[in-house]
Amino acid sequence: MSTNRAPFDHLSDADLLREVPRLAACERHATASLIASLAVLDTRQLYLGEGFSSLFGYCCECLHLSEAAAYDRITAARAARRFPVILEHLTEGTVTLTAIRLLAPHLTEENHAGLLAKAQYRTKREVEELLAQLHPQPDVPASVRKLPAPAPPRDVSLSTTAARADAPPERTTLQSEARSPTTLPTETLRVPLAAGPPPRRAEVAPLAPARYKVSFTIDAETYAKLREAQDLLRHAIPDGDPAAIYDRALTALLAQLAKTKHAATERPRWSDGPVPGSRRIPAEVQRAVWARDGGQCTFVSPSGRRCAQRGFLEYHHAMPFALGGEASVENVCLRCKPHNTYQAARDFGPWDRRHVQDRGRAARSQHDGTRASTSSQTNHERRRAHPACEDEPRLRR
Ligand SMILES: [Zn+2]
Repeated sequence: MSTNRAPFDHLSDADLLREVPRLAACERHATASLIASLAVLDTRQLYLGEGFSSLFGYCCECLHLSEAAAYDRITAARAARRFPVILEHLTEGTVTLTAIRLLAPHLTEENHAGLLAKAQYRTKREVEELLAQLHPQPDVPASVRKLPAPAPPRDVSLSTTAARADAPPERTTLQSEARSPTTLPTETLRVPLAAGPPPRRAEVAPLAPARYKVSFTIDAETYAKLREAQDLLRHAIPDGDPAAIYDRALTALLAQLAKTKHAATERPRWSDGPVPGSRRIPAEVQRAVWARDGGQCTFVSPSGRRCAQRGFLEYHHAMPFALGGEASVENVCLRCKPHNTYQAARDFGPWDRRHVQDRGRAARSQHDGTRASTSSQTNHERRRAHPACEDEPRLRR
């Protein structure tokens, strides 16, 4: 099979950044057109004459769509038949296909315009929360139950409601085909397994405003910890409610993480500030930087978009440490790992540790004169005076 990658290799960065959004718009337009045509094909039941008993089978076997892709497009096609404005949203990219799939069962003549407007540019989770507000569900009872032991290799059947659209559909083959919009969600999939059933995915589902259902699988060791925590907390949580224990455990974990990740403490120790020539970030600098940056990556694109990442954060030297930048509040900010690495490549060119170290040594020598040769001794002395510094996390660069 030939690839079509070569035509893009020669493009400049600026041209490529213009071309990709154009192609994404083309894809949206093509998808909306496919959905519109499927809606008509479905109404005329043309798949029957082609040898398929359902539109789902036609999409999978004739159009070679995955089960999940076929399901989403058929759901959208049938919804668009009732509310053609859906096709405009899909073409413009204001509402995703996943959002349409989630919204479709809830759309009515009265609410479709409002719901589609509220779903614009929303993530899947946000659309689920929107629907939870619209149709609040009661709290689910807390439960802990033993799962059956893993079965030997065999084929198993599971419902599509369990194998959600975002689950890997490549390992599944359809056992029975769709016949109507109402039968689609309960179709069964046949899953050929090499070894045991697929692992159950953790789930967090909004039930109602500010109420969520959480489900996951734990092993025997964690279950024993839960039982022990229930016993130790009988005075405070007599019924051993796992949700209440989960809340206490997370509260304790977050306090511990705040301490290790950004040196949070109620009793900060005295410090003499950044140590020249040291990569270590003083605890008070970590606290100040974390508070100032709001626990979020501070990278801002030329167009003004700030990175939204709150995980994999690192303390980043605006003036690189290798070029003499110090660990001060003014010179340190939060960056996610990809943006920290990206900035390193911009500062030093393609990543080459030895090259960076050589440049760093030369730059520090020029910047500090003889201070670089004595800084390690100074650091050692300061650490002896303030052993708490040993607990401070190292910078990655
Ligand atoms: Zn970032």
